[in-house]
Amino acid sequence: MPPFTDLAALDKQHLWHPFTPMRQWCAPEHTPLMLVEGQGCTLRDQFGKEYLDGNASIWTNIHGHAHPAINAAITQQLGKVAHTSFLGFTHEPAIRLAKELIDLLPGGKITRAFFTDNGSTAIESAVRMALQYWKQNGRPHRDTLIAFDRAYHGDTLGAASLGGIPLFKGSGNDFGYRVITLPGLDALASLPPDDLSRTAAVIIEPLIQGAAGMRLWPQGMLKSLDHWCHEHDIFLILDEVMTGFGRTGTMFACQQEGVTPDFLCLAKGLTGGYLPLAATLTTERVFDGFLGHPSEGRTFFYGHSYAGSQLGCAAALASLQLFRDESILENLPPKIARLRELMADLPGYRQCGMIAAITLDSPDLTLGSRVCLAARAHGLLTRPIGNTIVLMPPLCVTLPEIDRMVTALRSALIDLGALSQP
Ligand SMILES: *Cc1c(COP(=O)(O)O)cnc(C)c1O
Repeated sequence: MPPFTDLAALDKQHLWHPFTPMRQWCAPEHTPLMLVEGQGCTLRDQFGKEYLDGNASIWTNIHGHAHPAINAAITQQLGKVAHTSFLGFTHEPAIRLAKELIDLLPGGKITRAFFTDNGSTAIESAVRMALQYWKQNGRPHRDTLIAFDRAYHGDTLGAASLGGIPLFKGSGNDFGYRVITLPGLDALASLPPDDLSRTAAVIIEPLIQGAAGMRLWPQGMLKSLDHWCHEHDIFLILDEVMTGFGRTGTMFACQQEGVTPDFLCLAKGLTGGYLPLAATLTTERVFDGFLGHPSEGRTFFYGHSYAGSQLGCAAALASLQLFRDESILENLPPKIARLRELMADLPGYRQCGMIAAITLDSPDLTLGSRVCLAARAHGLLTRPIGNTIVLMPPLCVTLPEIDRMVTALRSALIDLGALSQP
């Protein structure tokens, strides 16, 4: 194996990293952080330095790294078969996972799981299903999706077309559907009748918008939105790619307001953060709208090569088993309280379950990234969103680890003069 300095040089020569200004990355003075090992909430770099994983490896990790139960489940599945096609075939891990996911949403409304391999395609599937459903079930004029300002639903063109953050929108869309972006619930009431009659679905990140910088929706907003959708028989699509799997304190964010949507999109934490897998859950009503003779053209012609991969499903089943075996949700309240207790006095603090964020009030928009770099020196990894800094540890985090994370963050803020010495 080449030494790490050679690897770093090769990286700069051949790689192109997501969401990364590459000129700065490739500059001679930049030493890329190479993560070589993980255990629980701790990650180790190429020099042996240890860090706490303060954003759960970009909002994916749930039970910590190298968890023996998830590793064993993946290894066991690997001994049987790694991946076979889900187009025209099926397998036990996907069948069991679909059943377990549906059982997590009592009430009987959600009955179907459609697997893909990332959050953007989970959203894409829901949007395509919603549009195609109305097209072939009596409301073909419904060509419009309503999304919200500052929303983020992923990076494929279709998912990005729903976004409300100009930076992430790319080249927009011209796929024969319209997207209307609204500031909030109140704007729905004054929607022009033509727009209302054309609306196929409303999509939202429930309780909290992630990429917008951890923006909290007012309490009750989701419930009211659900009522509005029911009233007009418009589909509600919930993007729980970030909030799913305990992140907000309950298994799914929608449960906090007693809402069951028509589409529930899951990805990041689904496999505990080990492998790419996503699910779009939906209802029997939607499913029924796609049944017919093949010649009628009602089939959902959409899917990805790695849809429902056995390895991903095995990891997801192991993760859900851990939720039960280790009482993950039951153990969250003291952790949530500790984050609040230690962070509440920091600038712009807000929190939703295990997601805590602060925003530095500074015209210097590089401050957030410099704070994160300073935090790295203090043994904490996280990624800024502008001047917003997020702490979203794996749910397995211990109270002492939370203390160390917040101490590292505070030290970084002090280093950069963003917080005065205690
Ligand atoms: C990360 C994210 C997505 C996109 O998921 P990918 O797996 O990165 O495509 C969509 N919606 C939300 C709310 C997200 O946080």
